[in-house]
Amino acid sequence: MAIRVQCSSCGTVMNVEDHFAGRQGKCPQCGATVDVPAAAGAPPPAAPGAPPGAPAAAPVVASASGQQDPLAIVGFVLGLVALVGSFIPCINWFGFLPAIGGLVCSIIALSNAKKEGRPRGLAMAGLICSIIALVWIPLCILVVIALMGAATSLAPPTPPM
Ligand SMILES: [Zn+2]
Repeated sequence: MAIRVQCSSCGTVMNVEDHFAGRQGKCPQCGATVDVPAAAGAPPPAAPGAPPGAPAAAPVVASASGQQDPLAIVGFVLGLVALVGSFIPCINWFGFLPAIGGLVCSIIALSNAKKEGRPRGLAMAGLICSIIALVWIPLCILVVIALMGAATSLAPPTPPM
C-alpha cells in the first residue's frame, strides 16, 4: 500500500511506496526534501482539511416573486434619463435613444411581470416616463426651432455701410 505524502514546499500530494517509510524523498515537482511518515496509512504531515483558498459555495438565493425585474429598472432609468434630458436644450435631441430604449424595456418588463406575478410599479413608471419623454422631446425641439426662427427673423443681418 502506498503512503500519501504532501510536499511541505509546494503542496504536491504524491503516493510513495511503502519501502520509503520513515525515510526522506525528493518531491518530483519542486525537488524539495520530503519526509515520508514511518507508518503506512499515517496522516500526511501537512494539515488535513480544506485549503484556505477554497471558498465555501455560497449560492445566491433569488426570490422570484417580489424582486424587481432588472429590465424594469433599466426601462425606468432610461425613461427617467430621457425625461430629464428632454428639459435640457441641445441634449434633448439625443433623448430619443434612451426614451425608445426605456419604452421597449418597460413594455417587455410589463409583460414579464404579468407572466411572473411581479410588481409592475417600476415598469409602469418607466413606461410613463418614456412616453412623456417621447412626446415632450419633439415639442421642445419644435419650440427651440420656432425660437431660433423668430430670433433670426427679428435680427436681420445689417448690411455694412
Ligand atoms: Zn514540492
